Amino acid sequence: MDRIIPIQPAPAEPSATAITPSADGLGCGAGKDAMQQAAMAAGKGEVLAQYAADYPLHPDAGPHDQPQSMCPAFGSLRVGLRMRRIATILSGSACCVYGLTFTSHFYGARRSVGYVPFNSESLVTGKLFEDIRDSVYDQADPAQYDAIVIINLCVPTASGVPLQLLPKEINGVRIIGIDVPGFGVPTHAEAKDVLAGAMLRYAREEAQAGPVAAPRQARSDKPTISLLGEMFPADPAGIAQMIAPMGLAVGTVVPTREWRELYAALDCDAVAAIHPFYTASIREFQAAGRPVVGSAPVGVDGTHDWLGAIGAATGVAQDKIDAARNATLAAIRGVLSQQKINGRITLSGYEGSELLVARLLVECGADLRYVGSACPATPWNAHDREWLQARGVQVQMRATLEQDLAAVHEYRPQLAIGTTPVVQKAKEQCIPSLYFTNLISARPLMGVAGAGSLVQVVQAAIGNQQRFDEMKAFFGETGQGDQAGVWSAVPQPHPEFKAEVRRQLEKQARRRKAEEMGS
Ligand code: SF4
Repeated sequence: MDRIIPIQPAPAEPSATAITPSADGLGCGAGKDAMQQAAMAAGKGEVLAQYAADYPLHPDAGPHDQPQSMCPAFGSLRVGLRMRRIATILSGSACCVYGLTFTSHFYGARRSVGYVPFNSESLVTGKLFEDIRDSVYDQADPAQYDAIVIINLCVPTASGVPLQLLPKEINGVRIIGIDVPGFGVPTHAEAKDVLAGAMLRYAREEAQAGPVAAPRQARSDKPTISLLGEMFPADPAGIAQMIAPMGLAVGTVVPTREWRELYAALDCDAVAAIHPFYTASIREFQAAGRPVVGSAPVGVDGTHDWLGAIGAATGVAQDKIDAARNATLAAIRGVLSQQKINGRITLSGYEGSELLVARLLVECGADLRYVGSACPATPWNAHDREWLQARGVQVQMRATLEQDLAAVHEYRPQLAIGTTPVVQKAKEQCIPSLYFTNLISARPLMGVAGAGSLVQVVQAAIGNQQRFDEMKAFFGETGQGDQAGVWSAVPQPHPEFKAEVRRQLEKQARRRKAEEMGS
């Protein structure tokens, strides 16, 4: 008689490779959980835990399974590309790198982005890390560079490519390796903080270890305020004017344009977190013993409160704070009283400055119903949230695209200010709209200049309603829904085709169910 061999479950392999889900072939479409699981198993748990603490998701906002705006790594890439004497190298899938380099050149990078390609073999064997190290050694020329930044995108992060094992410095060129995966850093705004924070940390440790290079521009003899956040170029100058009566000067803007500016930024008397999502950078400033002030000098109330907070953080006497307020607030009131915004508005964006713009809109007279930001609530925007909510504005932090669209649907604004998909949807519904990033956040917002900058563009856009109505009346339903696209003939509806497809799908579903019940 034949012997039947009992089937025993195979014993678990003790090696790491057996329990590590491979990240090869994963990407945006693989889903956040699969990527996170792979990254944790590959040794990136600590980095992901730090990101989860720094860039928390909103519990009610639903999972950001994929970034809903551009690839987050663009934020880090942009910070590196805007600095002098910094080389930036990407490690990631070719399609991601194509999109990122395209976007960076679209925004005027005017310099090369380095790339270390990989394939399945170099990824799983660890050769990719060797290739990255070789390219870093090739590039590390102190005559050209102060630092080289290497950014791990999603797949190398999920595979655990250990950038932390790169040398800290080669030939005097600093080496900074960061992981910026879409499944760990929710927005490109926060990715700016990942690199800015890593650089501040490096610079702080250098400054603590010994003398460092002086900034290119002579340092002010007054106490300085470092500004956190990319802002309109005229804004730091406007802020400098506002704080001059308090005997203070504007110091460095972070992200900086040069390595040695990092030391000057750290060497400030206080930090103004104009953009409130720079959590890792703020941690470095706090480690250097610098007080941090949230919100910004926008509108009358915002400027009043912010000047008071900056004065308190730097120990300025009350009469000087009052002098600074007197010098600025009357001028802002004057500008705001001359022109007003009349109209119902919804506002959404992913830059992190949404609440500041919202405050300004309200002070300009707008009937603002909703502000959504893809960035999180932090202690540095708490004051702005409270101010807006006290005026009946619905504030949604970590807003999803769906929430932004629902707000447009709910409030039927006369102007929708938002991200590309929000603007597209609003225009489809015949609602005038403005793209936040290019048309709103690229304007002065602070002090007197800010008070005068929004009214005209907003009123002009609201005034376009009639043109929308005329276009709608002219085009009717042409090009809507199924009829969108390029047709060589007038599109004809074929409901019978759809009915047939639906019938086949229902039949297939019934068959599957019957098979399940029979098995
Ligand atoms: S690196 Fe960016 S584009 Fe590439 S998979 Fe990740 S989130 Fe998507």
